[in-house]
Amino acid sequence: MNNFEEYCTQFVQNIGNKEGAVSPEITASASFAYVDAQTAEGIFNGSIKKPLYSRMGNPTTAKLEAVMAEMDGGIGAIATSSGMGAVTLSTMSLLSSGDEIISIGGLFGGTYSLFSETLPRFGITTHFFDVDELDAIKKTINDNTKIIFCESVGNPNMRLPDIKKIADIASDAGVVLIVDNTITPMSIKPLELGADIVVYSTTKIISGNASALGGCAVFRAINDEDDKFKTQRYKDIHKFINKMGTIALIANAKKRALRDFGMSASAHSSYQTMLGLETLALRMDRIISSVERVAMELEKAGIKVNHPSLESNNQNSKYKELFSKGCGTLLTIDMGTKEKAFNFLNKSKLATLTANIGDNRTLALHMASTIYSDFNKEQKEFLGITEGLIRISIGLENPQDIIDDFIKAAA
Ligand SMILES: *Cc1c(COP(=O)(O)O)cnc(C)c1O
Repeated sequence: MNNFEEYCTQFVQNIGNKEGAVSPEITASASFAYVDAQTAEGIFNGSIKKPLYSRMGNPTTAKLEAVMAEMDGGIGAIATSSGMGAVTLSTMSLLSSGDEIISIGGLFGGTYSLFSETLPRFGITTHFFDVDELDAIKKTINDNTKIIFCESVGNPNMRLPDIKKIADIASDAGVVLIVDNTITPMSIKPLELGADIVVYSTTKIISGNASALGGCAVFRAINDEDDKFKTQRYKDIHKFINKMGTIALIANAKKRALRDFGMSASAHSSYQTMLGLETLALRMDRIISSVERVAMELEKAGIKVNHPSLESNNQNSKYKELFSKGCGTLLTIDMGTKEKAFNFLNKSKLATLTANIGDNRTLALHMASTIYSDFNKEQKEFLGITEGLIRISIGLENPQDIIDDFIKAAA
């Protein structure tokens, strides 16, 4: 057991109501009526805390945001329409033309193409590094560096960053650190390690059943005294710090991203996401122990497996030291060629072939011919995409059934 007990109580008690409808209510309204003109004025200037318009916030979504913020130890959260919505909200609310991003490890395909293809069209440059290139990262930081971005586990290369060391570099340089922690705070809590913003695709293990697309960004409080956001590097948000104090990052992201780009969560999705959260700690516990077992048994059967829990893996010492509570639902196998990989996928009776991860079902997909088919040879090499690579996301099935099915499929 991975000791996720604290989360069980937190989730179950914070979601749902003690009076009336037990299940959280879905507020299916895009707009909200104001009782009089003075109230409308107060809602718009922030002195009255009532819903304004669902693009800016919805009561069902607000409940999800409160639970997500508590789960991470943040001062607040903003739920979004997708995980990419959360990545876009957290980055675009801070960036201007001429700024630079340092991106470490990973990287999820959508984030990689945002940084490498889309943001350059707006004059924003990204420097990409592997998780261990800490000296090169330090040397790359300059006055235009606004964001250091990393994923808590490389998807699909399974490489593990030392988030504490990266946070220390960010803190010394006065640069913001954003961590994509889709593997959830059950395994690692980036805000405690010194990150400033944490983002999630809640579509994955948090929902757990492919019923709702969603994302979330969780923010830390602005400190009373010294704070990197109070330096000239982040001068655009000083007006929010002056007006809103500790919750300035949320106010900035709401105005500069949610209002202007509109990546808002729907109330129905927020509801579905909360249903997933109620059982997250139990599902995570089960899946983390299954992933380790499946990885070990497949390796014993002679399959080339990439998972940091394996003694043979070059990330194993980091796994033991920094990720003792697991690193999510993924492992990858390399079948050597595309043909052998296709054979494996077509023979497996258990895996569902889909682009998703973190589901209650075991999922699998050939990487080079799907998510990464747009990318050139160098990009694939950087991201660790080989011709025979299959990404597998372990689900809640009996782990022995998964092992038996995969060994048969690989034969
Ligand atoms: C899936 C995923 C995303 C994007 O999330 P969507 O909900 O699909 O937009 C971002 N980061 C990671 C690590 C992911 O796995």
